[in-house]
Amino acid sequence: MTDASPSTSIPSGGPNPDVDPSVAGVDDVAKALNVDPDTGLSSDEAARRLEKFGPNRLKSKPPVPKWKKFLLQFKDPLVYLLLAATAISLVAWFVERATNPAEAEAAPFDCIVIVVILLLNAILGYVQENRAEAAVSALSKLTAPHSMVLRDGKVVEVATDDVVPGDVLVIGEGDTIAADARLIAAASLRLGEASLTGESVPVAKQTAPLDSVKALGDRTNMVFNGTSVTQGTGRAIVTSTGMATQMGKIADMLDDTKQEKTPLEKEMDGVSKMLGIAVCVIAVVVILTLAITEGFGTPQDAIDSLLLAVSLAVAAVPEGLAAILTVVLALGVQRMAKHNAIVKRLSSVETLGSASVICSDKTGTLTRNQMTVETVVTATGHVNLTGTGYAPVGQAWGPDGSEVRHGTPVESEAILTLGVGAMANNGELREQRGADGTSQWECIGDPTEVSVIVAARKTNALRPWQGFERVAEIPFTSERKKQTVVLVDKSASGMLTAVAKGAPDVLLEQCTRIYDGGQIRPITDADRDRVQSKITQLSSNAYRTLGMAYRPLEVTSLAQVPGIELDAAGQVQDVADQSDAIERDFIWVGMVGIIDPPRTEVRDSVAQAHRAGVRTVMITGDHPLTAARIASDLGIVDDEHRRAVTGDELDAMDDAEFDKTTRDVSVYARVAPEHKLRIVDSLQRQGNIVAMTGDGVNDAPAVKAADIGVAMGITGTEVTKESAAMILADDNFSTIVAAVREGRVIFDNIRKFLRYLLSSNVGEVFTVFFGVLLTGVLGISAAGDSGVTVPLLAVQLLWINLLTDAAPALAMGVDGEVDDVMARKPRRTTDRVINGAMWADIVFIGIIMAAVTLIGMDMALPGGLFSDRHDLGGSHEEQIVLARTMGFTILVFAQLFNALASRSATASAFKGLFSNVWLWAAIALSTALQVVVVNVPALNVAFGTMPLTGRQWLECVGLAACVLVASELYKLVLRAVAAAKRT
Ligand code: ATP
Repeated sequence: MTDASPSTSIPSGGPNPDVDPSVAGVDDVAKALNVDPDTGLSSDEAARRLEKFGPNRLKSKPPVPKWKKFLLQFKDPLVYLLLAATAISLVAWFVERATNPAEAEAAPFDCIVIVVILLLNAILGYVQENRAEAAVSALSKLTAPHSMVLRDGKVVEVATDDVVPGDVLVIGEGDTIAADARLIAAASLRLGEASLTGESVPVAKQTAPLDSVKALGDRTNMVFNGTSVTQGTGRAIVTSTGMATQMGKIADMLDDTKQEKTPLEKEMDGVSKMLGIAVCVIAVVVILTLAITEGFGTPQDAIDSLLLAVSLAVAAVPEGLAAILTVVLALGVQRMAKHNAIVKRLSSVETLGSASVICSDKTGTLTRNQMTVETVVTATGHVNLTGTGYAPVGQAWGPDGSEVRHGTPVESEAILTLGVGAMANNGELREQRGADGTSQWECIGDPTEVSVIVAARKTNALRPWQGFERVAEIPFTSERKKQTVVLVDKSASGMLTAVAKGAPDVLLEQCTRIYDGGQIRPITDADRDRVQSKITQLSSNAYRTLGMAYRPLEVTSLAQVPGIELDAAGQVQDVADQSDAIERDFIWVGMVGIIDPPRTEVRDSVAQAHRAGVRTVMITGDHPLTAARIASDLGIVDDEHRRAVTGDELDAMDDAEFDKTTRDVSVYARVAPEHKLRIVDSLQRQGNIVAMTGDGVNDAPAVKAADIGVAMGITGTEVTKESAAMILADDNFSTIVAAVREGRVIFDNIRKFLRYLLSSNVGEVFTVFFGVLLTGVLGISAAGDSGVTVPLLAVQLLWINLLTDAAPALAMGVDGEVDDVMARKPRRTTDRVINGAMWADIVFIGIIMAAVTLIGMDMALPGGLFSDRHDLGGSHEEQIVLARTMGFTILVFAQLFNALASRSATASAFKGLFSNVWLWAAIALSTALQVVVVNVPALNVAFGTMPLTGRQWLECVGLAACVLVASELYKLVLRAVAAAKRT
């Protein structure tokens, strides 16, 4: 071994720990690692080793300390601006105290309040960021990879983190290798090692020791952490884990899980920037206006106007937005996970809402993947099997409804068919005995395969095969659509026999003979036609079909099979590569019809998706007629368009014809994974946002290329899960549609709080801007008054912005579905989140808000446009404070009414008015905070407020309610226009 660290090398105590496992024999490696390759480690020993060597993971960056995270909240240009404002106001206070001690305030209240608010804002930001992080890390636990290992003699699934040196990995196609390991068995095993060596062609693996330690890419008897199995199966003893693996050595890479900004977040950055610039312009205009109309008599005037400008800027930019956005996305993703849709990237939530086509596999996603063989068709006739599920209990009945008689040709043919199918098989049927003595039957492996074993057990079809043992396998792949196993007859002649099962139309092509009435004879065209018409009949009745064939090889060793090539050492290197030599001249024995019922909920989901402008496309390896029948049963196509295009037909098309096909056709059958990629490309070319499901390793490219790659949680391979943006924990199509709906709701909620926050900010800016411009007209300052009179103080604006806005915005982020989100077409990704119509809405509400605030202030002051309805006693200073308090309060309530209005762009706020309890809690909290700020004398000085009378409170609420009234009228007009357009 090259690495001395304990978790890397064969643990000390072995015979020769310095030997690299690639040059050591299998037995030596097993001995050194103290493991029996046949049974693996015991669970206790594995636990001990885990304790000793630590978890099998690459080290990640140390987490950012809490204090640093908190300080990072201040890393924002707007906060710098505010800090500058604080410094300016502090300096101003010192200057005033030095020059005019009688007039100066007892403490720099402005400054203190701004600092307190900044701190509160940082705490809020910190808490929200933590919540978002917790949600994301909970998700990453859900998507944590798993590996199959041999422990206590059984194959079990463990978290990849828990794999230890000495574990026996059980490797299959599509797996990502958990650790560095020495192969002890390999069948047609090929690994993609590009992530480690850069070599893009998969490397064939074997088990023999190498004569010297080679470069990584040439260590053919080793598998390495992080590489993936592109084909075949194998077993390997783990030699090193975690940072001690080859991947660990080259990777100081660590945790690159840094979340990319989503397109939405990027657009928000743009909006913030744009608002910032707009407000800087406004601020300059305001300062100039003040300088021209009122003149800066004292330095204090200049400082006041500077402070005003800064607070204007701060008022306009929704600081909390970025944090709220992340939290809302993260919480949404957590909600989706509860409903079985595990979204791996926050940005996928947005994309999901825009999906316009969902391409789905059939088996297991649209159907239940609970396979039952119902019929066996042979040359002489057919038999039906009773019983459902995986319990091997049932009987064989003839077509006339009578029990099949023993010894009849049809019986022996059916038994041979099922026997061949059960031998050419990697599935396993396991019996679990419950405490009450009843048996539970468990399907291990592919349900299609297990269904054949169940049927074989029902008919005792395995008995004739008892002395046979497997010597080689040519595995099933979605491209080949068949599987062949070579068996040796140990009990008698020692002769080899090849048994095969596969898609009957495909397998039939390799058959030259047929088993008919106990005889083997050459297959005729009439036989082929008969089989084909049976396939058609079964498939159009939604049966999945599987044909069986066999071939006595009439030799005792693979090396003697004509056509098989041997390597220099006279060995058969890889049978899978030489499938043509084995898979020919087969004897057709029969086929089975397997029923796989559609999932009941899917029909509804397909209809829902259709209503939402989302097309469902079925892409399956199954027979075109089976596919078309199930597609029409599920409402994916109507009966007239019940047509499936096959992979062969697709191959013959040029791009133009291909695009035309993908536009019109929604069912694809007998396709291979590479067709999926072409279909995704074509649909995307036509402007679609495509969701594509996948499970096998070869599906990974299409899943990756799709806008939303969807991997199966149960049947999916690790490789596909890694490429996917979303994992379906239940493999169910309906979950995708539910996720699309959830994506749309989240997106709607984001728009709601954007509309709310931005219209509130615009309202504040307009209030200050017009308040300053129209000071004289509105009577906010008395004629002849000198100095700068600002309508609202900086601290008041900050208070509204940072505290009373945040809670309702967050509550809106978790709002339910107010508008029927599945009644509209998918959003185009090029559409802006805040479009023209929304800006118009925002500006309209902003103007109304500013108008009612300024009217309220005017009413509290002598002069101006509105008659004075108060006993306007007190000094002018006090009147200004009263007016500001009223303006401040009106603005706060206007925001709260606006929160109710913002829940939908078009629907009335009274629709489902009380459905969001969080929003009402937020409104109650904001109201309480406002009462405190206005009516608690201690805070009056800090906030420049004074207590209001009951009547004044009512007036404030009444004026603020105008925002809701105006918004209702605005929506009424929008709805009327929309209705007029429709007719
Ligand atoms: P999906 O709809 O998910 O693409 P599928 O199971 O219909 O799934 P494939 O798995 O590619 O598609 O199978 C294609 C055909 O190959 C099936 O119709 C069946 O006839 C045959 N087949 C499926 N599984 C096996 C298997 N394990 N061994 C042999 N033949 C199989």
